[in-house]
Amino acid sequence: MEGKINMRLLLIGLISMVLTAGMSLFVFHHVFDGQIKKDMAISANLLAQAYPSLESPKGLDAFQDNGLRITLISADGEVLYESLADSSSMDNHLARPEIADALAHGQGEAVRTSGTLGYNTYYYALRLDDGNVLRISMQTATLYAAWDNIVPVIILIGFAVLLLSVLVSVLLTKQLVRPIEAMAEHLDDIDTNIPYKELAPFALAIKQQQNKKEENERMRQEFTANVSHELKTPLTSISGYAEMIENGMARDEDIKDFAGKIHNEAGRLITLIGDIIKLSELDEPGEREFGPVDLYELALGNMELLSFNADKENIALSLDGQKAMVWGDSGMLSELIYNLMDNAIRYNVTGGQVHVEVKPLEKSVMLTVSDTGIGIPPEHQDRIFERFYRVDKSRSKETGGTGLGLAIVKHIAIQHHAKITVKSQQGKGTRIVVEFPGEGAARQA
Ligand code: ADP
Repeated sequence: MEGKINMRLLLIGLISMVLTAGMSLFVFHHVFDGQIKKDMAISANLLAQAYPSLESPKGLDAFQDNGLRITLISADGEVLYESLADSSSMDNHLARPEIADALAHGQGEAVRTSGTLGYNTYYYALRLDDGNVLRISMQTATLYAAWDNIVPVIILIGFAVLLLSVLVSVLLTKQLVRPIEAMAEHLDDIDTNIPYKELAPFALAIKQQQNKKEENERMRQEFTANVSHELKTPLTSISGYAEMIENGMARDEDIKDFAGKIHNEAGRLITLIGDIIKLSELDEPGEREFGPVDLYELALGNMELLSFNADKENIALSLDGQKAMVWGDSGMLSELIYNLMDNAIRYNVTGGQVHVEVKPLEKSVMLTVSDTGIGIPPEHQDRIFERFYRVDKSRSKETGGTGLGLAIVKHIAIQHHAKITVKSQQGKGTRIVVEFPGEGAARQA
């Protein structure tokens, strides 16, 4: 991590160094070029002022400067004087752009690359009063002599910048990474130890995860304690009855009764363990094999399954609605409907009613289970979906409840992206609505 930041900062330093060097070279070159051209124009004008007082073109020899070449050309292009070469051997200059320009407009300039040396030559030409053209020229070989001195300085500055950026990057990286390391050392109070605000979301996310983990751990411990307790009660009574039979303490006519009680308690244990297994399966992460499921069909099946229990208490079961497709697991969804209907029957009154409605809406499917039973006091309504939470423990146990039915319902609803709402009035009844996304919407989710 530290190395990565370091490398990046270094890269930025390197790039800015190369850019700075390149740009300053470009600017220097440009300024220098302009200066040379200006200087040449000044020299040419000075020469032109001295020119009328010369006796012959040969007199221009006196103005030869090192590197400055002077040429005098007649109006028809013939070279009259040349400071470096023999003027008579030179061809007609009329076609040269700077000469042509000077003849036409009074002055002209040009830059040409000499093929052999690769250097540029600057030309500046000026038309004189007598019609001849005075041209001076200079090779960049000479020009760059001065410029060459600048290059090492720029390179030196570049290296200094590079060195500085190495230093700064090392320091900056340390400064960036140290607080993060400090945070990692104090993960427990990470949210009170945020070194700079950019790290706040990171610290908060870690804190939230910690809280979630703690909460999960607490819930698991609570669940284990509850399960142990729930298992212990029926086992204790099973053990008690069995012991009495074993010791001959049970009268003959009691034995059948005791066996019935043992059977009953064992049945309760099996139901409880079945519910625990269902919950732990629902807890398991992983992809479910979902498909299209008709809730109405499931409700119909569960009606038949539960009609015997309802009849015992003279409770009227009714179903209303039509085919309503959702996307899900039919086993799970059937379990959800069963648990809700089972509760509606178990927490009902003799001669009461249970009404189930399955309604496909535009984008959702509503499942409503309502009863005319004992109802749930408002202060308990939020908690009935917790594991082992019961409003009236003895009634729950009497009717074969495990305290896990609604916890299973809640889990299944979550996995199907369904929303549960409870409406209940004590002594009047309860209505539980589960709203599923419609098959199409759920398939996309
Ligand atoms: P149980 O196995 O005890 O029925 P559940 O998880 O199914 O456990 O329900 C939790 C508690 O919620 C029940 O013990 C009961 O007190 C209350 N409850 C659930 N459904 C109803 C209902 N339809 N009417 C009244 N109370 C209900």
